[in-house]
Amino acid sequence: MVLGLLMIATQFNQSVHYVNPGTLNHHFFWRGGWYYDGTDWAYVRGGRKVTGRQRINGVQYRFRADGRQVLPYQVNRQYELAASQGSNQRATPKYIILHDVGSRATGQQAASYMQRSANSNQAYTNFIVGNGGTVYLMKQPGTVSWGAGTTANQNAPVQIELGQTSSAATFRQDYQAYVALARDMAGKYKIPLTLDQGGAGKKGIKSHRWVSQHIWGDHQDPYEYLARFGVTKQELATDLAGR
Ligand SMILES: [Zn+2]
Repeated sequence: MVLGLLMIATQFNQSVHYVNPGTLNHHFFWRGGWYYDGTDWAYVRGGRKVTGRQRINGVQYRFRADGRQVLPYQVNRQYELAASQGSNQRATPKYIILHDVGSRATGQQAASYMQRSANSNQAYTNFIVGNGGTVYLMKQPGTVSWGAGTTANQNAPVQIELGQTSSAATFRQDYQAYVALARDMAGKYKIPLTLDQGGAGKKGIKSHRWVSQHIWGDHQDPYEYLARFGVTKQELATDLAGR
């Protein structure tokens, strides 16, 4: 009995429920929170899927009449990793980690390279944004990725790379999608919309530079790349907070 109650309590605390595709067609749900079927997202409150405009964990979301979320960005799965690539372990939801690819690669080039080299290089992230705001899904959100060292990786359900461009117009589209994706995922995993606040263990959105300063490593991305287009850390913090 006690064990049963504990299990129910644990399930209520879980912010994202990973389900089979058919599940989102149901009309009643026992557990509240986010549901993700590998493609679509829905949010359940009071046993029912919410519709229309909803504010959840500080983020504004939009849902269709059937309860499926209207994503504020476009997803491309062309380069998604296979189950045999990388880790399928669930991450503890503390950090959303922001990167840039650190070379002159576009998002698509980086995604293609990552798909071929994830296991041999032991390096990949859940998403890469680029080529005018396309979000390349590399590995299911919620799972550990290999972007920032073991400790940070295990505590980051989502890590996002930003592909590079020399076009200011392309950068604007990429940046908008990068911020929208980070906010979207932070709201889903109940991670505060703060940037680089506090030390190790403090939940929030973090740059790879913050990870190097507080946990492990020497990478400094993505501020140098953002600065090329005049985006300061303060501006990124403001945009992530939605102010
Ligand atoms: Zn990085």
